[in-house]
Amino acid sequence: MSQFRAEFKCIAGCKGSYPLDSIIYRCPSCGSLLEVSHDMEQLKLRNGEAWRELFDSRNGTNKWPYGSGVWRKKEWVIPGINDENIVSMYEGNTNLFRAKRFGAKLGMNDVWVKMCGTSHTGSFKDLGMTVLVSMVNEMISRGKNIKAVACASTGDTSAALAAYAAYAGIPSIVFLPRNKISIAQLVQPMANDAIVISLDTNFDGCMKIVQEITKDNTIYLANSMNSLRIEGQKTIAVEMAQQFDWEIPDVVIIPGGNLGNVAALGAGFKMMYELGLINKKPRIVLAQAENANPLYLSFLRKFEEFSPVVPKKTLASAIQIGDPVSVHKAIKTLKEFDGIVEQASEDELADAAALADKTGMYTCPHTGVALAVLIKLVEKQKISKTDRVIVISTAHGLKFSEFKVGYHEKRLDGVSSKYANMPIELEASADKVREVLERELAARRA
Ligand SMILES: *Cc1c(COP(=O)(O)O)cnc(C)c1O
Ligand SMILES: [Zn+2]
Repeated sequence: MSQFRAEFKCIAGCKGSYPLDSIIYRCPSCGSLLEVSHDMEQLKLRNGEAWRELFDSRNGTNKWPYGSGVWRKKEWVIPGINDENIVSMYEGNTNLFRAKRFGAKLGMNDVWVKMCGTSHTGSFKDLGMTVLVSMVNEMISRGKNIKAVACASTGDTSAALAAYAAYAGIPSIVFLPRNKISIAQLVQPMANDAIVISLDTNFDGCMKIVQEITKDNTIYLANSMNSLRIEGQKTIAVEMAQQFDWEIPDVVIIPGGNLGNVAALGAGFKMMYELGLINKKPRIVLAQAENANPLYLSFLRKFEEFSPVVPKKTLASAIQIGDPVSVHKAIKTLKEFDGIVEQASEDELADAAALADKTGMYTCPHTGVALAVLIKLVEKQKISKTDRVIVISTAHGLKFSEFKVGYHEKRLDGVSSKYANMPIELEASADKVREVLERELAARRA
């Protein structure tokens, strides 16, 4: 047994705590979400420097389970879990991309992109799913009757759940909004043997169904209202700090839909701060698509109220959410981190993604939202050109080929495709080719 302890507690502060292997998603007294609460007094027995050294010493190791960027911080994630029950694909460990040419276009020299999509199923959802599925695996090994894990998804959660469940040999059920996710995202859970249910509704509608289905406690709910996932996702804050030798950036920009990930990011920084690993907190910027912007609207009113919206179609399909389940956690986080919420239109997000691609990235539309927000906040002088900024890239561009092709073929609604770059079809003549190359190279020099 670990000397460290963690349990579920109500985020609204109600009394009571629940073991991490209990099947519970909301506070029984007030209905708020739960969070994993760590015994900070125990954790403080090791000082900040000692924690930094411990985590650094595990970098690059293959020793189970510390080869995972998540489980390398096991004491801060789920300290009590049996290593043998951990379901890991050595997720995390993603690179920080120095966005040199992209930054230069904004007059900046210190812009970085955290490539969370360079991961087993192509999105940051792997970070949380390793924790949730590991806990389910532990519960099954302790004799709990769990028949399956289930989630509603805008595409990436289901891909991650299906893969981790298949790895562990646990059946998975995924509810997807019909025709609202990319082909790659639909094929992933199919390939990983999930029961794939395509519903004639949007994400919020799928969410209602999965909550209904999982009232039967033998089907375990894997959505991010399940706070185990937050524990895995928060490790990206630690990983980024570590990648900068524990220096903290000025600003972190993250795209948000259901708003679990921004809460996770804040939780990671907060834990490092409280345990003395770092002595500064970054400003956190939450980026939303204008077509699904309930938190942006709330931010304009200083978070005094929050109203769900009916989300419109957006190319950033993974954040097409109007009624985010983690909104209260997100608002709390943004208040603590001097937060800003900014939005991006379809045209802005698509051009920002394409501009980034022109400088060597291969961005998904959600990363496009975050990059567009960076551009806007620099223009509005809310981000200084000398700031060190990290943009969280949430998924791999290869999952969104329809978006890419549609952009370059100028087929996307409301998108002008300023940077479209189509193949040039020519007869097989060297003279013709030379002529075209001269023209094209001149255009690129201009
Ligand atoms: C899930 C997801 C998001 C949004 O994360 P939330 O925790 O729902 O705010 C953003 N981008 C991608 C690619 C995602 O899969
Ligand atoms: Zn409560």
